[in-house]
Amino acid sequence: MEFDLSKKHCFYFNETTKIPHGSRNEKALSDYIVNFAREHGYQYRQDELFNVLVDKPASPGYENCAPVILQAHIDMVNEKNKDSDHDFERDPLELYVDEEGWLHAKGTTLGADDGSGAAYMLAILDDQTLKHPPLQCIFTVMEEIGLIGASNLKAEDFHGRKLINLDSGGEVETTVSSAGGARVQIVHSLQKEANDLPAYTLEIRGLLGGHSGGLIHLERGNSNILAARILKEMSLNGIALSLVRFSGGLKYNAIPREADVTFVSSFPFEEIEASLHKTEAAIKEELEFSDPGFRAQLTKADPEPYRITEKISADIIDYMYLMPNGLMHRSLKLDGLTSASLNAGVVITEEDQLIIEDLIRSAISSHTDTLISKLELLASVFGFEVKVGERYSGWNYSEKSELREVLRKVLAERGKELVERATHGGLETGVFKGLVPDMDIITYGPIAEGEHTPDEKLDLTSFDRSYEILTEVLANCR
Ligand SMILES: [Zn+2]
Repeated sequence: MEFDLSKKHCFYFNETTKIPHGSRNEKALSDYIVNFAREHGYQYRQDELFNVLVDKPASPGYENCAPVILQAHIDMVNEKNKDSDHDFERDPLELYVDEEGWLHAKGTTLGADDGSGAAYMLAILDDQTLKHPPLQCIFTVMEEIGLIGASNLKAEDFHGRKLINLDSGGEVETTVSSAGGARVQIVHSLQKEANDLPAYTLEIRGLLGGHSGGLIHLERGNSNILAARILKEMSLNGIALSLVRFSGGLKYNAIPREADVTFVSSFPFEEIEASLHKTEAAIKEELEFSDPGFRAQLTKADPEPYRITEKISADIIDYMYLMPNGLMHRSLKLDGLTSASLNAGVVITEEDQLIIEDLIRSAISSHTDTLISKLELLASVFGFEVKVGERYSGWNYSEKSELREVLRKVLAERGKELVERATHGGLETGVFKGLVPDMDIITYGPIAEGEHTPDEKLDLTSFDRSYEILTEVLANCR
């Protein structure tokens, strides 16, 4: 198998790999698409973030068909092996094909996520022999860093009510639902007082963590929530304590694996440790099959001149002990799909405030609303303030989809059965659904593996076949 540049989709994929296009660095590739549209005489628009929207008229006989929108993101995740001296700002990717027919980039990500989708659109725009309804090709930017390009679009930007998103692989698979989300900051201002009590550090270690979209249903431990529980159970055991600082987790969208809490108490080390061991043993049993590496450890710390007041310490611990977290709802329609969850991903103690960074995910916005409301109600009891940050829509499963049935039919004609998938992660499709609620959306793409790592590879046979299937789907949209 060679990478045959006489095929249009291969030619254009190769073009994308010559132009560096990591997230926030899409201008050059965006301009390439603009030039391409201009040379072909197509109507186009490039917005201030460098999203590009290109219209191609229907092929003869399809003029009266409902328009179809194709969409892919043009940014890629820049990752390279430690020994690679690749410069992602300047160097073209170095492509090669392995013995099994997979396309790779030497030492770096390949950017088939989502260069394969962009290449499909350019190939379709460049091919006047294809049959299709009026087409709009939308090239979005900054998908990988928070769906930013998609979120900059407006309802009136979409020239149709059918959309094929080309950012999902599998050749016979299509996504039918994705989660929306809301970032929430929960903040408590701090009052401190002089301290002469001994200080201790509680460390939570050994948890598995993982992405809060894909893995929240696995009942893994959340280090922040577990630390709060251990501290709460100390106080239920009669041990008075005040916090000095609480820190845990690294990213709001990752299940936190570690937490470090410094606190002071007049109670003897042995008594505090005994309480810790009791709770630790209980948690170990609860997590035996989901997160077996969990451990908690208490050590004596250096003296601390200040402590957070006992009242505020108790408010913080009680809030975190009670706050809803983890899997909330699962779908009974789509097997294994989480339909609502929360992740208290990060806790930071600053000079005068403590901040909990939470991410709510749900395919249905009423779930998100209710969970925000619960966090707020609880916050009002314990003196916290809740700040709701960026929010994006979910894509809830819809029973009926004309596009999905066309794809099913085209695959069936080739003896293949369509596989429907749903994700608890966020996708651009959710943003589009939020903008145009009656949009019929499917996702489609070739088989690829190792996205976001230097092992990323694209199955070239599947790249060819999926392109044929996609163009057949368009020909069947009439
Ligand atoms: Zn992608």
